Amino acid sequence: MGKIIRDIGKAEKENFELIITGGGIYGIMLLLEASRRNIKTLLLEKNDFGGATTLNHLKTVHGGLRYLQSLDLVRFRESVNERKWFVKYFPEYVSPMSCLMPIYGNGLKRNSVMRGALMLNDIFSFNRNIGITENKKLPGGKILSNKKTAKMFEGVDTKGLKGSALWFDANIEEFQRLIMSVLRKSVDLGSVPLNYVEVKELKTENNKVKSVKCVDVESGKEITFSGDVVINAGGPWSREISTKFDKDFPELFKKNLMLWNILFDRKALSDCAMGLTPKRGHGHTYFFHPWKGRLLVGTGEIVVEDIKNDVKVPEEEIDKFIDDMNSAIPGINLKKKEILKIYAGILPATKSGKLSKKPATIDHSATGGPEGLYSISGVKFTTSRLVAEKTIKKIFPDKKPAGYESIFNGKEDTENITFEYDEIVNEKSINKLKKIVEDESVLHLSDLVLRRTSLGENPKRALDSIDKLKTLFKKEIAWWEKEKTETEKLLKVEAGS
Ligand SMILES: Cc1cc2nc3c(=O)[nH]c(=O)nc-3n(C[C@H](O)[C@H](O)[C@H](O)COP(=O)(O)OP(=O)(O)OC[C@H]3O[C@@H](n4cnc5c(N)ncnc54)[C@H](O)[C@@H]3O)c2cc1C
Repeated sequence: MGKIIRDIGKAEKENFELIITGGGIYGIMLLLEASRRNIKTLLLEKNDFGGATTLNHLKTVHGGLRYLQSLDLVRFRESVNERKWFVKYFPEYVSPMSCLMPIYGNGLKRNSVMRGALMLNDIFSFNRNIGITENKKLPGGKILSNKKTAKMFEGVDTKGLKGSALWFDANIEEFQRLIMSVLRKSVDLGSVPLNYVEVKELKTENNKVKSVKCVDVESGKEITFSGDVVINAGGPWSREISTKFDKDFPELFKKNLMLWNILFDRKALSDCAMGLTPKRGHGHTYFFHPWKGRLLVGTGEIVVEDIKNDVKVPEEEIDKFIDDMNSAIPGINLKKKEILKIYAGILPATKSGKLSKKPATIDHSATGGPEGLYSISGVKFTTSRLVAEKTIKKIFPDKKPAGYESIFNGKEDTENITFEYDEIVNEKSINKLKKIVEDESVLHLSDLVLRRTSLGENPKRALDSIDKLKTLFKKEIAWWEKEKTETEKLLKVEAGS
């Protein structure tokens, strides 16, 4: 697979058909969709690839069961198809995940309604297993008795229990590798992704996009890249970039919704993911994800004013979140000191502070802005590829795409490196990590630990392994000591200490 080589000088000499600002999942999927249409594309990321909102997601590719509640069949079908895309082309990183929701009651969560919803879920996702290998197929859903529910989840609150709903979704086990795989496929197809390059300014000629002025974050040097079209995929920063390049478009991010998941130093409560609602009455359902056998719970949310690089959940919100967990499951007795890691990011919300339902796409030329400038802001990892495909098709209607079959060849990713939750770094993994350092534009130790592999997802293991990684970087002692201190700080802060 293609090597990601950070050759800024070479890229400066080229004229690109497309420049993408932002290397989160939306920028990365835009890169893939452009690359498979043979569009000469440059992607610029101010930090490391996938290191902002994208790194913090709940590792779930949703089939869209919740959209059935509002009978939104379009979004439901889109999610089913996109889930299938991930399972089909990344079988080494994406697996079926059983999901269980105990049923207690009334309204939309009563037994008959859930039975109907599961039936519709199966009917409208009729094609979910076509072309999928046997061990990755998603079985149909069903209603379980109290006895079977208690067998799957011993800690279930049996008071008033009326069975449970069981269905299947998909889980991304090695999320960092999936992202790198998409980037490396795009490089194979001729595209250029550059990390640690911040886009500062748009240059135009006769109100047409001409180039972007940037800073190489590593050296501090100013650089200019030429391109005919620019897509701003800056995630939470998309509005700020839009304002800088043209004008403000509030529809990109009407409000800022901070969302977070918390990984606890506890074994998962069940092999199933579980949707559980605290008894204390506000009705928010949390998802208890058995990620690599550990307890990962999401998702808390609050509206915030500012967007910062380092998204921090307020302490009182963490306290409320833990109280909710303890109210949802009798006897679980979770404590703040058990927090291993907090995953937090900012997503676009509506004026009333609810998560936006749809992605926003702006053609700036339609309101007098520069021709060739577009901005997008998306809501879900699951549908990022589809949004990217629609955007690229609209901008480049005449470019015909190569089929995914020819790009992915049905072959598994040869650079695949996975870690069980407690697996320590050994000689075999060191050799694989060495290849990653050489081939994937790893500029910092934290790139390797947090954004190329799942090593840092178990902060304790990562802290214990750091010294073994020293040989992978052919750098002077002072460089190593600085990187080590910074990475340890990141792991410790995230570990809540
Ligand atoms: C807690 C949480 C849980 C979630 N769970 C799920 C889930 O289970 N399933 C699901 O489908 N979705 C989930 N999501 C949503 C999903 O993670 C997001 O929709 C997605 O990651 C957004 O990606 P993005 O590329 O738009 O933004 P980002 O990942 O933030 O990428 C934007 C990038 O632009 C870069 N950038 C900004 N300005 C510049 C500049 N001037 N120059 C260069 N680069 C720049 C930033 O550094 C950043 O990397 C979750 C989100 C959160 C926060």
